[in-house]
Amino acid sequence: MNPLSCLPPDQPANAEERFCSRCGSGLTLRAEGGRNRLACSRCGHIVFGRFSVGVGGLLTHEGRVLVVQRGHDPGKGRWTLPGGFAEEDESPEAAITREVREETGLEAEPCCILAIRHAQGDHDQNLYMVFGLRLTGPAAALKPDGHETTQALFADPHRLDQLGAFGMISKWIIHRFSPEDGGLALVPPADQPVTVPSHRWTTLFAAHQPHPKTLQGTHHG
Ligand SMILES: [Zn+2]
Repeated sequence: MNPLSCLPPDQPANAEERFCSRCGSGLTLRAEGGRNRLACSRCGHIVFGRFSVGVGGLLTHEGRVLVVQRGHDPGKGRWTLPGGFAEEDESPEAAITREVREETGLEAEPCCILAIRHAQGDHDQNLYMVFGLRLTGPAAALKPDGHETTQALFADPHRLDQLGAFGMISKWIIHRFSPEDGGLALVPPADQPVTVPSHRWTTLFAAHQPHPKTLQGTHHG
């Protein structure tokens, strides 16, 4: 079922919002792009809803996969891929690097995006991005933080159930992918199109590097 179909057409999901998050002026209901949305009459900002971005990372080392045991609810005691939520002023790939460092003590960097999961909640929407990671420091630095994670270890991917309860998406990812499979690759800043002036930084992941022949074929300059 389309989750949007249960919304009355004139009632945005964020209808209780009163003030513009950019300039503080009052929000009014206005037809934009085929449905009524909250919009600011002063600065023009349109409220497109609330999103949170969760990140997870798949890191393999000598045939084993990095997993952590959650130290708090929701899901206390459950095993998952390392990860967490991106801060408002943090890119997703910076968030996964930070979360892996905090939860496991390991230094790693994302090499690709393996999966993206969208979930519609009652009050917001969540995107969960799963990165393929590679180690940039020693594996021996592995150490759980003892708070967010009670245990962190490299597990045999074929014996995950011996650890205990496992997060379903984490298990699904581990059984299907390895970071070497590729996925959406990070585009270096020099190869990115010009970024939007209002964005302080932009990161871009793309399906593959364009083939030189493709570039020649579409060049009309
Ligand atoms: Zn405004």
